[in-house]
Amino acid sequence: MDYAFAPQPPVGVAVLGTRARYPVRRVYCVGRNYAAHAREMGSDPDREPPFFFCKPGDAVVPVDAGAVLELPYPTQTAELHHEVELVVAIGRGGRDIVAGDALDHVFGYGVGLDMTRRDLQQTMRKAGRPWEIGKAFDASAPLGPLQRSAPDARATIELAVNGQRRQSGSLDQLIWSVPETIAHLSRYFELQPGDLIFTGTPEGVGAVVPGDLIEARIDGLGELGVRIAAR
Ligand code: MN
Repeated sequence: MDYAFAPQPPVGVAVLGTRARYPVRRVYCVGRNYAAHAREMGSDPDREPPFFFCKPGDAVVPVDAGAVLELPYPTQTAELHHEVELVVAIGRGGRDIVAGDALDHVFGYGVGLDMTRRDLQQTMRKAGRPWEIGKAFDASAPLGPLQRSAPDARATIELAVNGQRRQSGSLDQLIWSVPETIAHLSRYFELQPGDLIFTGTPEGVGAVVPGDLIEARIDGLGELGVRIAAR
């Protein structure tokens, strides 16, 4: 096919143990999937179930093993927040996937950051408007290498800023488990290979400023390093 100009190639995420990279199609994110984080954001997890929002595929910034990403502080915010998340990479598509089959659709797992312009997200939330300017900005989704095998169901998920722990939780605290998340999502969208799911963040989200070093990790999935750079 002739395009009017050369299309952008997909973002390619490192896959441990191979030189081939995982081509990103879409990024789905789960909101308020840990009860304690739902409470710190002012909602009641017993009354409001988790929900989905999206980021563009090219908001993903791959961070290879052992590297520290220099992430520019984004424009138009004075409150850039970190959210460490387990990321599930889809390898086989489908719709109306049942939870019992969901793990057969997974390619691999990684450690990601759902970076958030919290001030803009809150402003839009109060106004009942879409969250894109708070959530879907350029480079808002740093992602470490994918691993083909799953982390332990009770693996620790945590994040430190400048060596101080800010977020800490366990994957068994997810309100929607990974299979349940895939099942829910596939009722609304036909999943395809290349789709990433950011599964939500535990409590302890907070602001970072230029110069800060973020170290995010999930037991068994390795570590993701990000240095916040000046604008
Ligand atoms: Mn999030």
